[in-house]
Amino acid sequence: MPSMRQSYTEMRRKGSMSGSVLVSTFVGLLINQAKVRDSCFMNSILQCLSNTHSLRDYCLHNSHRRDLNNNSRTNTALMEEFAKLIQTMWTSSSSEAVSPSEFKTQIQRYAPRFVGYNQQDAQEFLRFLLDGLHNEVNRVTVRPRGTVEDFDHLPDEEKGKKMWSKYLEREDSKIVDLFVGQLKSSLTCSHCGFCSTVFDPFWDLSLPIAKKGYGEVSLMDCMRLFTKEDVLDGDEKPTCYRCKARRRCTKKFTIQKFPKILVLHLKRFSEARRTSKLSTFVNFPMKDLDLREFASENSINAVYNLYAVSNHSGTTMGGHYTAYCRNPNSGEWYTFNDSRVTPMSSSQVRSSDAYVLFYELTSSSRIKAPRASSPLWTVDKLCLECDCNRIGRGYEELTPHRPAWFSRLSLPLHYNTPMSLLASSSLSFFL
Ligand SMILES: [Zn+2]
Repeated sequence: MPSMRQSYTEMRRKGSMSGSVLVSTFVGLLINQAKVRDSCFMNSILQCLSNTHSLRDYCLHNSHRRDLNNNSRTNTALMEEFAKLIQTMWTSSSSEAVSPSEFKTQIQRYAPRFVGYNQQDAQEFLRFLLDGLHNEVNRVTVRPRGTVEDFDHLPDEEKGKKMWSKYLEREDSKIVDLFVGQLKSSLTCSHCGFCSTVFDPFWDLSLPIAKKGYGEVSLMDCMRLFTKEDVLDGDEKPTCYRCKARRRCTKKFTIQKFPKILVLHLKRFSEARRTSKLSTFVNFPMKDLDLREFASENSINAVYNLYAVSNHSGTTMGGHYTAYCRNPNSGEWYTFNDSRVTPMSSSQVRSSDAYVLFYELTSSSRIKAPRASSPLWTVDKLCLECDCNRIGRGYEELTPHRPAWFSRLSLPLHYNTPMSLLASSSLSFFL
C-alpha cells in the first residue's frame, strides 16, 4: 500500500497537475483513526458528493447559510457540519487527511441506524444524508396542508408539471434542485385500453442488473429492464378507473423530468438482508449516456457524463468501499480509499465493483445547438457584458414548445454570432 507521502511524490513526478490542484486533491483526504475501515461506506459517499461540482460550490460559497437563516429551524447542525467538512477538504492548505468525526456525530443523531461503525450500505447512507441535508435547507418552512386535487383531466405533460409544482410546495431546496427527478408510471387496462398515470419524485434510480448468458451487461440493458413493461395479473390486478373492475394491466416507467445529477444504484445485493451479491460487470459509459429513449416526452434531451462512482469490493460478509471521482477543476480521475488518494486513469473507472454511479446532465443537453437544417428564430441581444451597448443579432432553433426562449432575450449575451449564419435565418417572427 503506498503511503500518502509516496502518492504525493508519485503525483509530483507525474507532473501532470498544478499546485492548486494538488491542494484540492490532497484536501480531499478523509481519515477516521482506527475505525477507518468500518466507515468506508461514508467516506466513499462523501467523496462522491464532495466532487459534485454544484453541491461543493454551494458549500464553498456559503450559500447554505442563506437557506439555513431563512428558516426558523433549530436543527441545522448536519448541514453546518457537512459544509464545514467540504470547506476543509477544498480549502485547507495542509496535506493532512481530514477527519469527518464531527460530521459523523451529526449524521448519527439524524439517523441513529448509523450509530456504531458497522458496515453499512453506501446507497442507503446517501439517501439518509441527502434527506437530512434537504430538511435543514428546505426553502419551505411551513408545508401547506395536503389537499386532494385531481389533475386526471389534464394531458399527461400538464399533469406532470402540476404534480411537480405540488411537490415543490413542500420540498424545495438546493438538494432537490440537483438530485430530484420525476418518474411517470403508466398503468394501461388490457380490457378497455384506459391509461392512468402517476407521477412520483425520485432521488435515485435502483436498477436491477440485467442477466445474460455471458459475463457482461450494459447499463442500458439495466435501464431497459427497469423500464420494461410489467404485466399485473392475478392477485396483483389493479382496479381500472374506467371499467370500475379489477383488470389485467400493464405498467411501465418513463422519466418525466431528468435531474441535473442522476444517481444510478446498481442492485448488486439481494433485498433479503443482503445475503448475496452479484458481481456482474456492468458496462457503463463515461460520456454521453443518452437516456432519451426512456423519456416520457420525445423532445427532451437527457445526455449525461459520469463524474463519480462508489465501489464495493468483496462479499456481503466483508466488503470495502472506495470512490473514483473526477476532480471538477482538473477533470482528472482519482481513487479515494479512506485516507489515501491516488491518481488513476479514466480507463480504470469501469469495474465490476461499481455500485453507485453519479452522472451530471451535460450542458449541451440543456442548450440545444442549432443545426443548419432547422428553422431559426432571429433574436436581438443586448450586450450587458461590457459598456459597448451594442445590439447584436443571434439565432435560436425554432422550438415553439419551449417557452423558455422568451426569457433568454434578457440574458447578458455578448454579440459574437457570425453574420453568415444570420443570413440563413429567414424567419424573423418577433423582432
Ligand atoms: Zn378498463
